[in-house]
Amino acid sequence: MYGPGRYVPDPTEGIPNVNGLPAPQLVAYHRDHKQTPCPRCSHLASRHKSGQRTLHDLGDLGTGHPVDLLVAYSSHHCHRCKKHFNIDLTDLAPPGAHYTHRVIDVAVRVVSEDGLPQTWPRHPCHQWGLKTTGCERVADGVFDKP
Ligand SMILES: [Zn+2]
Repeated sequence: MYGPGRYVPDPTEGIPNVNGLPAPQLVAYHRDHKQTPCPRCSHLASRHKSGQRTLHDLGDLGTGHPVDLLVAYSSHHCHRCKKHFNIDLTDLAPPGAHYTHRVIDVAVRVVSEDGLPQTWPRHPCHQWGLKTTGCERVADGVFDKP
């Protein structure tokens, strides 16, 4: 049984090639609404179009596979402000990020607990479904422009 603070074997440890890592499990996530409040004026804005983005989420420890959220989202147009905007997803991930808050939080915690990144493939981020050396990819997600 897995639990907080207990280390489990990393099924991807020792795989030298990124292409040899387990394929991600794809999980559909729906946030495509007909209307949503405008972030500027709170007026209910109608959907203009729909889109999809992929967010890398925490891996499944039971299977050793990373998890990718396929997020269906809506884009809206506010007739009062004459502005387009996407539905709010900031509870899932920072704007423009490739990773969810959960991945970023775990990666930051692991690095702060274990110290500076080690040489791949023994890097602790690898255990959490990050496809490459980990923290650099998380940093990309954190610091990407929206
Ligand atoms: Zn508005």
